Amino acid sequence: MSMFMTNLLWLLNYHTLSWILQYGVFLYVAVCSGLYIILTLKAIDLYKRNIFAGRKVLLVTAHPDDECMFFSPAILELSHSNSVHILCVTTGNYYGLGTERKKEILESAKVLGIPKQNVEVFDDSCFLDDPHQAWDVRKLQQSLMAHIEQLQPDYILTFDDKGVSGHPNHIAVSQVLRQMLKESRATGPKPRLYLLETVSLARQYISFLDLPLSLLTKKLTFVSSFSNIICSQRAMYAHQTQFVWFRILHVIFSRYMVINTFVPVEL
Ligand SMILES: [Zn+2]
Repeated sequence: MSMFMTNLLWLLNYHTLSWILQYGVFLYVAVCSGLYIILTLKAIDLYKRNIFAGRKVLLVTAHPDDECMFFSPAILELSHSNSVHILCVTTGNYYGLGTERKKEILESAKVLGIPKQNVEVFDDSCFLDDPHQAWDVRKLQQSLMAHIEQLQPDYILTFDDKGVSGHPNHIAVSQVLRQMLKESRATGPKPRLYLLETVSLARQYISFLDLPLSLLTKKLTFVSSFSNIICSQRAMYAHQTQFVWFRILHVIFSRYMVINTFVPVEL
């Protein structure tokens, strides 16, 4: 084959690949946009309204700001027809800002439609906001058990064992809570536990473009409408002490500001 023919074939291949790539990306964005519009217009009910209506839902997190950075699509949808409560295991006092952050979570919850009497923040030196300090697991289990026995939630939402961002406190909350619920000998029906799915890093910052992959897994899925996304951003704005550049990027690009997928756990 002559040099001319080789170069021509290379050029054709390059243009073909470039064309496929460009139109492939365009098509994918168009499909995601269509899916997003259909889902947020409520044309498709993601089978959750029947199970989440008139229930008591408890969200257990590790730090003030977890509720809106990671769980706001679920909170905003559930708070319409359920009584949603938040239990935050630490005050977020790593930089000595615990007092301010307790106020911030109340303000954030208010924006998300949760009254302040439904928000509890543990302030205990046995489980501090510190990724390098091991928690007193037994003490945390006792505190969680006391709160859950008093509240009697129908559903509990929390992190999975990867903790979304991999923060050791997120992972510890999930592990301690699961262990406690499994070992619980409390009489009466146990709450149903759902864990927020941690997706790969490549999927974490593509916002609504993760929709096809999220829906394919057939997990319990919440998708925020555009107005709910704005509401989540306003809630995040309440966390003034945490509003640094990388969290601003999170607010703009994170899939968790738009989509939540949950995995049920057998207890
Ligand atoms: Zn956190």
